[in-house]
Amino acid sequence: MPAIVNVKTSARTEMVDITSMVQIEVARSGVTDGICVVFVPHTTAAVTINEGADPDVCRDIIAKLDQMVPPHEGYRHSEGNSDSHIKASLVGSSVSVLVEGGRLVLGTWQKIFFCEFDGPRSRKVFVKA
Ligand code: ZN
Repeated sequence: MPAIVNVKTSARTEMVDITSMVQIEVARSGVTDGICVVFVPHTTAAVTINEGADPDVCRDIIAKLDQMVPPHEGYRHSEGNSDSHIKASLVGSSVSVLVEGGRLVLGTWQKIFFCEFDGPRSRKVFVKA
């Protein structure tokens, strides 16, 4: 079984930095050199890697996604959250990160972000190193 990171989101659309929680699970796994897969088992949430230094980067990503995929556009899906499903597919459900010396190998400015597109909700992220 993969390790599970629980994420509680507080807005309909939100990017949550989960890097430290993923790092904890990598350390717990005992893997020192390999690959860590971070997988989101939800259809209206996603995961991505991007800049964590300036929070405006995430704000810009969210604003642009909202502009590209408006909430109400005559979608067919009866649940009324088609924009959430589309954004989740655009961003993707997994990322892979190299592990060396028991540490995630990320660029200087990179963080791993859980992307909520239909919150607020309690979510799970699978982590396997
Ligand atoms: Zn739906």
